[in-house]
Order: sequence, then C-alpha cells, then structure tokens
Amino acid sequence: MRKAKALLFEMGRSGRRGYSLPDNDVPEKSLDQLLPQKMQRNEPLGMPELSEVEVIRHYTELSTRNFGVDTGFYPLGSCTMKYNPKVNEEVAALPGFAQLHPCQPEETAQGALELYYNMEQCLKELTGMERFTMQPSAGAHGELTGLMVIQAYHRHRGDHHRNKVLVPVTAHGTNPATVTMAGYEVVQVPADERGNVDLEALKEAVDETTSALMLTNPSTLGLFEEEILDMARVVHEAGGLLYYDGANMNAIMGYTRPGDMGFDVVHLNIHKTLSTPHGGGGPGSGPVGVKERLTPYLPVPLVEKKGDQFYFNYDLPESIGKVQSFYGNFGVVVKAYNYLRMMGAEGLKQVSTDAVINSNYLASLLQKHYYIPYDRIRKHEFVVSPKTQAKKGAGAGDIAKALLDRGFHPPTVYFPLIVDEALMTEPNETESKETLDAYARAMEEIARIIDENAEEIASGPHNTVVGRLDEVRAARNPILRWQKE
Ligand SMILES: *Cc1c(COP(=O)(O)O)cnc(C)c1O
Repeated sequence: MRKAKALLFEMGRSGRRGYSLPDNDVPEKSLDQLLPQKMQRNEPLGMPELSEVEVIRHYTELSTRNFGVDTGFYPLGSCTMKYNPKVNEEVAALPGFAQLHPCQPEETAQGALELYYNMEQCLKELTGMERFTMQPSAGAHGELTGLMVIQAYHRHRGDHHRNKVLVPVTAHGTNPATVTMAGYEVVQVPADERGNVDLEALKEAVDETTSALMLTNPSTLGLFEEEILDMARVVHEAGGLLYYDGANMNAIMGYTRPGDMGFDVVHLNIHKTLSTPHGGGGPGSGPVGVKERLTPYLPVPLVEKKGDQFYFNYDLPESIGKVQSFYGNFGVVVKAYNYLRMMGAEGLKQVSTDAVINSNYLASLLQKHYYIPYDRIRKHEFVVSPKTQAKKGAGAGDIAKALLDRGFHPPTVYFPLIVDEALMTEPNETESKETLDAYARAMEEIARIIDENAEEIASGPHNTVVGRLDEVRAARNPILRWQKE
C-alpha cells in the first residue's frame, strides 16, 4: 500500500518560510494600535510553517492521486467517460466567451446567442426534436425539466388524473428519483428474458392515469429495445407521452433518433456524449428537446433569430418558467458545440460506430473468463456478471478493487439491479485496441487469481493510498476538514 500522506499541519516546522519580503521601511505599529484588544486572538492561529518546495511537492503529489480520464482507462458504465479534447477548453476560454456577463445587453452578446441558436439546430438534427432549451445543468435536472413540461402539457388539456410515470427496472437511479420529485408515482415495468422492456407487462401497466414512460434506449444493459415502436404506440394510444433519457446517446448518433422512435421529450447529457468534462460534481449541461406540441411549455427564454439578429424570447405564456439562473452553463455548451462542429455528422456517426465496436470487442474478450448475461449484440456498454467468481469468494466489488490495484478505473458496480454482481462496462470510442487488450488481460489475471486463491482478491486493494473505506460512514458522517486537537 502507498503510504498515507502527512498533512501540511504535521509537516510544518516553526520558523520555516515559503516567501521572502523586502525589509519594512515604514514605522511599525503595535498590534494594539492596529486592532482593539477585544478583537485580538488569545492564542496563535496555528498555521503550518513550510518552505515553498514542501508546499509544491505536497500539492503536486495530491494531484496525482485523482483517477481521471486523462490518467487512465475509465470504463464507468452509463457515464460515457470519453476523452475530452483539449481544444474544447481553449475555445471556451476565448475572452469573447469566457468574459461575457449574463446581464450584458443582447446586442452586445450576439455571438453567444448565435452559438446557442446553432447548437439548438444541431441538437434538433441529432435527436429529431422540434425545440431545445439549454438551461438544465445536468441530466437529472433535464429529467425534472422534461417531466414538468409533460405535466404542464397534460394539465393544459385538463388531464389532471395522469399521476403515474412508468419506469423500467433497468432505469438509472435518477429516473425514479426525478419522477418522485415531480410529484408523480413510479410504476416499475419488468424486463423480459432478452433484456427488453416486457411489452405485455407494459400493456398491462398503461392506463388513463399514465402520464409518461421514461426510458433510455439502448438501456443500461447496453441493449437496444427491439420493440420500441410498439412500446411507443401502446403509451401514445393510452394518452401518455414518451420521455427519452439521452445518457446513452453515444451508441446511436447518426444511426437513429429518439424523435423517430416516437419519443416526445429528450434530455441529452452533453457532458457525456459531446465530450465535456464531468465527474466530481460538474458543471454539466442537460439540454431538453421536445416535439412541436410541447414547445409552448418549455422554460423561458428561448433563443430566436429575426433577420440577422438573435434575441431572447420570453413571450411563452404557457411556459413552466425558468429552471436555472440566467441561461444555463454556457461554457459547457461552447465546448460541446466545438466538439460537434469538429466531428461533423459523419464524425459523430463514426463515434457511435467505434463505441459499439469497442464494447462488443471487449465483451468478447471478457466472455472467455466471465459470465455475460443476454447473449446478443451490445451497443456502447455491456454488463459482466462475475457470479461464479462471487461464489468462490470474490465478487464485483472485490474485482473493482483489484482493477484499481492494476491502474484501471473500475466499471459501475452492482448496477443495474437485475444482474447479479453487475460490472457495467463502457469502454468508449476514444480507447485504442491496446488499452482494451490490457484491460482484458487484467480481468483475465483477476479471474485466474480468484480460481487459485480468492482471498488475495477479496483482501484488496493492495497498491492504493487507502484501503477499503467505510462508504456508508463517509456518506453519512463525512469529515471534510482537519481540526486542531
Ligand atoms: C448519467 C445518467 C443520468 C443522470 O445524468 P447527470 O448528468 O449525472 O445528472 C441519467 N440517466 C442515465 C442513464 C445516466 O447514465
């Protein structure tokens, strides 16, 4: 195990300095002259005293402890942790973008408005939707916005009894959470033996209280819904709408569109699919797109073009209002737009082609040593189920730690819930064959060690800075700062 790092407070030695200042050439004042006695500390502040090189080494070392896309392979399923080209950052940092003020008059921010306008045209084309708002700050925020739009639509038609949203068992955890937050009741729909949403169960679940079906396609199992058009028909015939969770868009760009599958509302996670950095809490961006009959309910303002002028349109009487201060995370949209324009339509299609090929290639390598349920072509991700290994004494969580020991970020563990010991794996299009091969070799080695001596894997990790953390206590009772004894 790498040695835990001493804190700066422990490293400090009295009298050490990291700076030097010129001699004082003005008369010195006493502390009492500067500050009334009652405002002075009774004891010294206790700041650590360190040299410059100690501070530099400390922080530089800490910075290497984060695992990131820029430091290693990151196959975290459903998160699309693709490499984020650095040119996106340079473009977003251009002073004309970075130094804009949100209260600036519209006529002095025409370039930014034009970018929003053009981005909307691209997203419409990509998804088959009629209008987009860029306000939501993340996927989950987009979900809430989209459901509020659906709610406004039903209410406007006098459909007040539609209080349920159907969510498949394979749904991302944010889906049922958002449904509840929007004041709806969650109705779970089971999967069939091929991993599709069970169409018969869907038919039974749908009725006049159905507000919407919320779905990602391909699902978190990496499987494309084979009966999506029938599903859309069933929900629409009952008067419900279809909500598309666009987090898995990386699998289908240029091949098919949620709008063509029958979806009425979509959110995109542009911090996933369109290569802007994410993890660690943002910032992200989750634009929401809708079909024509839902456009009156979108948040204000929308960006419009008149002649060669761009402007904010607040004139939407049925709008759900604003869902974000100002106009969304503009810098994230700039990065995503830059990526879109660099790739072009053909490039984006290639992204999805490569993401799907990488996923199927890696699955075929891992299949030799691990059980992978649902034996059919995968889209951008697949779920490994090391249940034989778990019986021998080392399951998904232990394998995840063993991967950390070998320099890889683990896949998403124990999700989706319908797969025992799930390792949800999404390699992405930005990884080379050599990286995928190296990962497969590590997984093979882990399987071999489990066969010989499962305890060696179950007692890991062995090479990381910290061992097994008490995850529950870390979440419930976090200790976020050093305190003087
Ligand atoms: C990531 C993800 C979300 C939530 O998106 P955030 O941007 O993290 O809020 C929703 N659904 C699926 C399938 C996801 O992968």
